[in-house]
Amino acid sequence: MSTPPDSPSHDPALAVVEDATCLACGCLCDDIALEVSGGRIVEARHACDRGRAWFLADRGPGDWPAATIDGRPAPREEALDRAAELLGRARAPIVLGLTQTTVEAQAAAVALADRLGAVIDPSHAADAAPRLSAIARVGRVSATLGEVRDRADLVVFWGVDPVTTHPRHWERYSVEPRGRFVPEGRAGRTILAAASEYTPTAARADRHLLVPADAQFEVLTALRALINKIELDPERVAAATGVAWDDLLEWAQRLTRARFGAFFFDANLGRARGGAATVEAALMLVRDQNASTRLVAMTLGGPGNPAGAESVLTWQAGYPVGVDYSAGYPRSLAGETAADRLARGEADVALIVADDPITALPQAARDHLLRIPTVLLAPDATATGRRSSVALATATSGIHTAGTVVRTDGVMLPLRPALTTEWPTDRELLRAIDERVRALQVGDRAPAPRPAEVPTS
Ligand code: SF4
Repeated sequence: MSTPPDSPSHDPALAVVEDATCLACGCLCDDIALEVSGGRIVEARHACDRGRAWFLADRGPGDWPAATIDGRPAPREEALDRAAELLGRARAPIVLGLTQTTVEAQAAAVALADRLGAVIDPSHAADAAPRLSAIARVGRVSATLGEVRDRADLVVFWGVDPVTTHPRHWERYSVEPRGRFVPEGRAGRTILAAASEYTPTAARADRHLLVPADAQFEVLTALRALINKIELDPERVAAATGVAWDDLLEWAQRLTRARFGAFFFDANLGRARGGAATVEAALMLVRDQNASTRLVAMTLGGPGNPAGAESVLTWQAGYPVGVDYSAGYPRSLAGETAADRLARGEADVALIVADDPITALPQAARDHLLRIPTVLLAPDATATGRRSSVALATATSGIHTAGTVVRTDGVMLPLRPALTTEWPTDRELLRAIDERVRALQVGDRAPAPRPAEVPTS
């Protein structure tokens, strides 16, 4: 933290944190300069409006208690004991959330799930499943965003609208920056946008294609056939895809002519008719294009650290989402999610870390989650209106807490906190619960104390 003392705007009370990382969208911009004064972030230079709102939000503890048990304020140690008791005695515990915290906390949560014999599943698992399934089947040709900035002369935004959802993607990674092999910046790149409606991204693209939402598989497959020079019947293709033949030909030609192309998509593609098969069609189009030139497939990424959750689970359990430790070793939920387990009533205690999955859950899963005891670790866990058996307030990752997050392209980024807080990190709380559960388990295994000797005379 520093401000040059000879700076014209030098304010002795102002501190500056350089290169902070914003977690408000999947761009994870790591070039933000935070100005801190009076215990608050007062400016976030380089951030977009959404990033500024995230950094400048009120992060004070308010009058919330550090911990609650059944909604009543409780000492933190007592809440930790109760959390360990609930989780350690559970027959089918489940660990949820995880996308809004650091890799270090995610690793602690996986270790605790392992100790508990729990099911663990990040809250974005249902969205990620079609993509992960498609990658497992056909692989993925990928790159870093730095390579895209330096090399891409063609950028395809398929079913995504980064101008709206990822405000600096355009200026920082994919379109405007001058790259090593694209020194002209925007003028050196062709931008193609495909979506079911006319979006702000389409308005700024060089070409846009209106693709019916339920015909994405057909359009991607037709494009793949065209770049592979397979003969098609134009009338039948137009009827099946809802897209004009000439437009498909032009897109195929542009893909083929590119020196280096980047194809961006997101979870919407997996939600389209066909699910994982539609994502697979996109990945195979990209893969086949690499026979003659370079094309990479990338996601825009979600806010926080969902890619970190996938990375941690992969390196610790072998599966990127949905892991069941109940057998004493990690097994994949194999096509299911924690929501399915919840909907069938197959969980008796839930530990929720850092984000609240409840709004994303289907009704049956939500109903069951509201019926069973829950332990919540989150910055606003003890705020009025939250309903948890045990709630512990935590510091906010990236604001108060250092650590590591993973960008959608696999690049690891450090968090540089600007504020301090009296709340512990979620990682510290997870480790404290883990310690207590271990002590409970050791106690359960210890032989029963010998009865006191009874005097015989
Ligand atoms: S583009 Fe996203 S990560 Fe970058 S500053 Fe804006 S909200 Fe934050």
